[in-house]
Amino acid sequence: MKTEYIILKETTLNNNCPECYSTDGMVLSFKQQRLISKLLVKTKSNVIESINCNKCENQIFPGQWTTDIERVYDYHKKTITRQSGSLRFTKLFYVLLFITIAIAAFAYIYFYRSDLLGI
Ligand SMILES: [Zn+2]
Repeated sequence: MKTEYIILKETTLNNNCPECYSTDGMVLSFKQQRLISKLLVKTKSNVIESINCNKCENQIFPGQWTTDIERVYDYHKKTITRQSGSLRFTKLFYVLLFITIAIAAFAYIYFYRSDLLGI
């Protein structure tokens, strides 16, 4: 199982970083998680929000946010469109499903309707 993130929005904030006080290092991002396995792809409906500072390389947790950061966050939160949660099957799943059905159909004919095979 592999995890990917769908980036819904990523924006640079010009607020002061609560850690290093730089004004051009913080990046606010909204992501959704997608789990990919060989047979299915699952998109989670919840949005993961985070603020990271590229200057001091800290993650800025909501408890550290200033009211200015909260205001900018609220503004951007309204602009994102999240994808609805979904579950879909991969091509491999359908191929395996088809093979299983084909084998089952063949077995059925072989054991119960062998007259159709002419044997
Ligand atoms: Zn910083």
